[in-house]
Amino acid sequence: MALDDHIERILWTEADIAARVSELAAQISDDFREHTPSSPLILVGVATGAFLFFADIVRKINLPLTVDFIRVGSYGCGTQSTGAPRISCDINTDVKGKHVVLVEDIVDTGHTLSCLIAHLESKGAGSVSVCAFLDKPTRRKVHFQLVGDGKLYSGFECPDHFVVGYGMDFAELYRNLPYVGVLKPEHYN
Ligand code: 5GP
Ligand code: MG
Ligand code: MG
Repeated sequence: MALDDHIERILWTEADIAARVSELAAQISDDFREHTPSSPLILVGVATGAFLFFADIVRKINLPLTVDFIRVGSYGCGTQSTGAPRISCDINTDVKGKHVVLVEDIVDTGHTLSCLIAHLESKGAGSVSVCAFLDKPTRRKVHFQLVGDGKLYSGFECPDHFVVGYGMDFAELYRNLPYVGVLKPEHYN
């Protein structure tokens, strides 16, 4: 059976994604160009879900930058957040006084990002921006505050469905789909 057969509906195709990623990268490049002669921008990918988005967007940002990853868990294997996120693998980069962009797959309740922003702020980051591939604003429970003159970038507004593909999983599967879609109900079990 092909993996595609598990998908009920595609929300964003590979071409939709590529076009939007280029736009976001151009915006980030413009916004940080004046800061980067003194110190490179630090891009922090939130593992695992953001890995494809991260790989795509860093290649389109035309500025000196460094990359790092942070791992955070709250979901387990289901489709509902279990609340308190936990950082299980931290960055190695010294972010003190630096401009940091957190690259996340999807903002849902906002718990994960508010935890990560507070964490980077406690490490002394000069600014913390967020670049989220998808945003589900109707599901927000926590309104996170960016740090310094940090900015919010978001790829697409996502309807209130559990989506998979382009890095995002259900029970660790479907991350390798090159597009974003909704699973057929029979595959959630
Ligand atoms: P939050 O802490 O904002 O509630 O949840 C953020 C995390 O939950 C995201 O980074 C993502 O990993 C996961 N998540 C939220 N909505 C979805 C979804 O529709 N599909 C998948 N695969 N993960 C999701
Ligand atoms: Mg995530
Ligand atoms: Mg997940």
